[in-house]
Amino acid sequence: MEQIVLNPVGMVTSECGEPDAMPLGGTTAVIQILPEYVDALKGIEENSHIWVLSWFHKAPRDILRIVPAKVNPDLPEYGVFGLRAFARPNPIGLSLAELERVEGNLIYVRGLDAIGGTPVLDIKPYYENDIVFSPDTPYIKGKNREIRQGIMRKQAFTHHREDCPELYIAVRMAIIAEEELGKLNSVELKVAVSGPSCLGDCIQGITRSRLAHPVRFAFEHDDNQCRTVWSRAGQSLSITLKNHPELEHIKNCLDEQLFEIKKN
Ligand SMILES: [Zn+2]
Repeated sequence: MEQIVLNPVGMVTSECGEPDAMPLGGTTAVIQILPEYVDALKGIEENSHIWVLSWFHKAPRDILRIVPAKVNPDLPEYGVFGLRAFARPNPIGLSLAELERVEGNLIYVRGLDAIGGTPVLDIKPYYENDIVFSPDTPYIKGKNREIRQGIMRKQAFTHHREDCPELYIAVRMAIIAEEELGKLNSVELKVAVSGPSCLGDCIQGITRSRLAHPVRFAFEHDDNQCRTVWSRAGQSLSITLKNHPELEHIKNCLDEQLFEIKKN
């Protein structure tokens, strides 16, 4: 087949300079657009999120199967087309970033998965039509709590778009539920939330559970408590927040100090 020649339209500037140092949720960065392409930015600031297609210039191109070791080295091998691993024949990076602001030829973003110096090939807006609320995906479980919490925090924030205390409560509850009941975006897993709307939103964002088809999510508004009841295949787990703790307390406390946990 014919060769394709691409010219970068810009470059990423970021404090993160090595692929191994890139956090799983991406990082803050500035995309510097080359002067001849600045006209192509008109209207871009109307979007809250953009797709950034880049060229992973440091990626190996001769690997077709790989273990997603950054998330968990104990997982099985996948073909690179079934993963977002940066090693691939054409190392095109696809990253959904939050657009903070545009100043001249500079695009300030959050959550970009591309290190400093990465050539940028294209930028496209993220549209509502891109959203699949509850896709089927492989169970790529993070190797430890820190990684799993990072993934869940991003899921909750992307859905809820507020970094509120209930987001941290939701993540802590979801971590416990995942450890007991397995993959949270699963048709067999149901969750009922009694609590503030923020908690309901964040739990829904993490679990991708819908009110119907299938029935997986129930919500009862209650500003005086935070409770989630999880069930799967005859097993059930109830997690209730004990007090109204400070944010730092939510982050640092042990499960048993923070919650009353009942298993059935
Ligand atoms: Zn909130």
